[in-house]
Amino acid sequence: MSHFETDSIRIQSRSNEREHSSPIFLTSSFTFDSAEEARAMFADEIPGNIYSRYANPNSTDLIEKVCAAEGTEAGIATASGMAAMFGSIASLLQQGDHILASRSLFGSTHQLLTRVFPKWGITSTYGDIADYQNWEKLLQPNTKMLFIETPSNPGLEIIDLEWAGKFAEAHNLILVVDNCFASPYLQQPAKWGAHIVTHSATKYIDGQGRVLGGLILGKSELIKEVQFFTRHTGPSISPFNAWILSKSMETLAVRMDRHCESALKVAQYFEGNSHLEAVKYPFLKSHPQHHLALKQMKAGGGIITLTLKGGVARAQRFIDQLQMISVTANLGDSRSIITHPASTTHSKLSQEERAKVGIADGLIRLSVGLEHVDDIIQDVEQAIAKSS
Ligand SMILES: *Cc1c(COP(=O)(O)O)cnc(C)c1O
Repeated sequence: MSHFETDSIRIQSRSNEREHSSPIFLTSSFTFDSAEEARAMFADEIPGNIYSRYANPNSTDLIEKVCAAEGTEAGIATASGMAAMFGSIASLLQQGDHILASRSLFGSTHQLLTRVFPKWGITSTYGDIADYQNWEKLLQPNTKMLFIETPSNPGLEIIDLEWAGKFAEAHNLILVVDNCFASPYLQQPAKWGAHIVTHSATKYIDGQGRVLGGLILGKSELIKEVQFFTRHTGPSISPFNAWILSKSMETLAVRMDRHCESALKVAQYFEGNSHLEAVKYPFLKSHPQHHLALKQMKAGGGIITLTLKGGVARAQRFIDQLQMISVTANLGDSRSIITHPASTTHSKLSQEERAKVGIADGLIRLSVGLEHVDDIIQDVEQAIAKSS
């Protein structure tokens, strides 16, 4: 097998019951046939399940499917996307190390870099995407990691992965890419030299807003370090959540095709609307890094941003007029979802800091769902009209 659609459906473990669909292995531990087998498994001399904090057939299924999709050698599944972000940094860096990161990061990742890791002596510097010819100047003698998110949440900024791979290699940095917005179907950062790829599986991999989950994928030698860390600190995913996410991988390709097709139609429909200052979507020609999106993404993804004229007040009036689209903090769901970052997910940033990451007061993040595209357009259009 080698096609994305086939691997993400056909990779699965089996019990002895000849089941067709994978069972859920709700067990905390696994038995050994002998004392010698127990010894050998603990010593990593033979493979096998020991304890569900280390591995479980459901998490192994999920990891193998996503590894096949991403073209990575090995991986770890975690209880949430943030456990994956935290685990990848905490396991690979140590006190005194420095991270160079793209400024446009998921809100909690920003908190990790600015408030959590400095407590243990791991510091960070942000680079602006518009200025990445100058990132060399931001390196310090102790810089060990380049951490980027592309497309970024919610600004949809795109970083050239080929450049990032070469930059990391030239400066001996571990390149970590949060690939959540694109999903493993649209973009494979390892192809461009990423050493570690992280996911919030909560988003497109689940795709129906049911469970939290995360993934850390990459080269075996690095994942061994991550595995040591997660094995002994315990951010493991539950077998049930891993089962949900593994079953979800079976439909990721068809769901993403529809998300992308609808998002492009919505973006094209509203581009130029007189109530909007801007419409941003990676596969619109007007996107500032459109050429990069075409180069490294199979399609534009399911997220678009609309910037309403009239700032926070107008954005809030718009949200209150929506009839179908959900107002909630998730994304990548079968249901279309609207978020107003300036008053919610990014309210802790100053207006100036928000401007630096492309979040205007009137910016709305629309996660285009799987409903009929005409109904999504109609709901947005009527809410724009009623909020003016
Ligand atoms: C949601 C998200 C996360 C965090 O994932 P959780 O599963 O909510 O912990 C990290 N990065 C990005 C880009 C996200 O959208």
